[in-house]
Amino acid sequence: MKIFNSVKEWKKELSQLKSEGLSLGFVPTMGALHEGHASLFKESLKDNDRTLVSIFLNPTQFDNREDLNNYPSSYEEDIKILEDLKVDYLFSPAYEELYRDNYRYSCRENKLSQILCGAARPGHFDGVLTVVMKLLNIGGAQKAYFGEKDYQQYLLIKEMAQTFFLETEIVPCPLIREKDGLALSSRNRRLSSEARQLAPTFYGLLNSGSSREKIKKDLSKAGFKVDYIEDYHMRRFGAVYLEEVRLIDNVPLR
Ligand code: AMP
Repeated sequence: MKIFNSVKEWKKELSQLKSEGLSLGFVPTMGALHEGHASLFKESLKDNDRTLVSIFLNPTQFDNREDLNNYPSSYEEDIKILEDLKVDYLFSPAYEELYRDNYRYSCRENKLSQILCGAARPGHFDGVLTVVMKLLNIGGAQKAYFGEKDYQQYLLIKEMAQTFFLETEIVPCPLIREKDGLALSSRNRRLSSEARQLAPTFYGLLNSGSSREKIKKDLSKAGFKVDYIEDYHMRRFGAVYLEEVRLIDNVPLR
């Protein structure tokens, strides 16, 4: 796998790829890779001649410094996962490389980004959309893959790509769960073993078909701190805290 830290070096490789007529798929991540990420890499590897993955822990999407500082990272293991899967390229830039403007410029959406996760995390989606806009422009891929685990994020990115006439097609990929139903997430690593045992109850209740009020009550009783349970776009979305770890999930509405 070829690793790039510089936009200029990657762009050189990209022109070479294009001149050879090869197709490129792109999967942006924040690292601490797991099977959920791997499902996106596999989709890209299947669809394209070459696959680019980025690892960049994007500080501008964290509304809370402690959450950023506690975000798990496992760079060496991540590289092994990418190499085992035969991913072709990794782009892993420093903050200064990606944010030469030090975040004077940003992308902003004024409706969907303000509800659900956006209501509790001011500025979160501005940071997400800004970094994804940068990464899609740098990546230069025909297709980019995003997980339905972050369904609100996927919708916002898909609409941003259409709005700004980006050339990359945004491809949604199904949410991958543990056997017990818990949505795979880098943040799960921060749960204690007791909390990890309790965590699948979140999915169980979200998917129970009960009223939103009953789900909130049952979650609180079980020991979760509920941020929201809301229905939107034919899906039921939820966010909870367990031991200060934020878990999000969504299921299709029955
Ligand atoms: P992150 O590293 O959390 O920013 O995630 C990078 C990409 O992987 C995003 O498009 C996520 O939606 C996707 N992803 C993370 N967890 C899962 C999962 N459990 N199932 C499917 N996609 C996922």
